[in-house]
Amino acid sequence: MIDMLSMTQKELRTWLTEKGMKPFRASQIFHYIYQENIWDWQDMRLLPQKDRDILAAEASLYIPEVVSRLDAPDGETVKLLLRLSDNNTVETVLMRHDYGNSICLSTQVGCAVNCAFCASAKNGFIRNLSVGEMVAQLLAFRKYVDPELHSIVLMGTGEPLLNYDNVIAFMQLIHREDTFFLGYRNMSLSTSGIVPRMYDLAAAGMPITLAVSLHAPNDTIRRQIMPIAERYALPDILKAAQHYFDVTGRRVTFEYILIKNINCSRACAEELSRLMAGKNILINVIPINDTLTPGLVRPGKKEIQTFVDTLQAHKIPVTLRREMGSKIQAACGQLRIKHLNSDTSD
Ligand code: SF4
Repeated sequence: MIDMLSMTQKELRTWLTEKGMKPFRASQIFHYIYQENIWDWQDMRLLPQKDRDILAAEASLYIPEVVSRLDAPDGETVKLLLRLSDNNTVETVLMRHDYGNSICLSTQVGCAVNCAFCASAKNGFIRNLSVGEMVAQLLAFRKYVDPELHSIVLMGTGEPLLNYDNVIAFMQLIHREDTFFLGYRNMSLSTSGIVPRMYDLAAAGMPITLAVSLHAPNDTIRRQIMPIAERYALPDILKAAQHYFDVTGRRVTFEYILIKNINCSRACAEELSRLMAGKNILINVIPINDTLTPGLVRPGKKEIQTFVDTLQAHKIPVTLRREMGSKIQAACGQLRIKHLNSDTSD
């Protein structure tokens, strides 16, 4: 079976021709899928019956089922646990902002990076998602929740830059006029700092927003909570981020999760300020959510404010992330882990 949702219209034309169908059917099919939200081949009435039968037998157009759904009481966040065609599950989150809906997508099933504060990695890495499985997450929200889409963030389960080719092809596909027609400026990607791929991304000619999970002002602290720090050193990550800005003109955001007694002291804020002095960047501070990792504790309000104030005193641009969905287990991977645990306890 071919994966229909991974294909561009041009690729589909070629495939249709190989199968003895008229290439112009590709534009009708794209219209059905992306404009009319019709995802059953038999409902595509403009296609001859014999074409529909071939497509039903040979082209997968799978929109994942919802295994579970959590709606925040304020209606701002909806989280879906979606079942893929091979029974693996991924989480996808919709956040309603003043400017429109943003969807946070997963790029892998599980994750090999194994950050201490993240539930996604607890059951290890399973596999990369295909281009079509990323597209299908967007279509699932269209189908089950809300058709409006303003932006996407690749910040769900998985390290996007370790699924580089599919992630790039996915962003290129949803940028196209005949699919979602989403601007690159409405796409963000968060990486734990896969340095060579950050350079590749800079060269890819797609001015998306790049976010780097920093979470520490030095490698000693970073290694305690992010094993990937053994592989890529902080100065190299900063150099790659600067290069990304130089090439794309897009300011890089550094994500910084505050964890009590690990990385949120005033001294850490001072060190971070020195590291970022004079750079055109943004620090996004996020107090840690409840996680499945014992021993990682959210700092108190005063400590959080001191950290932010210290950065501001050094004129470092900083935002304190508004926490959406904390009441619905929004920390990445928590819903899937709960599901896996309930499966194994049956
Ligand atoms: S935070 Fe991201 S990179 Fe780190 S383990 Fe979780 S999904 Fe992987």
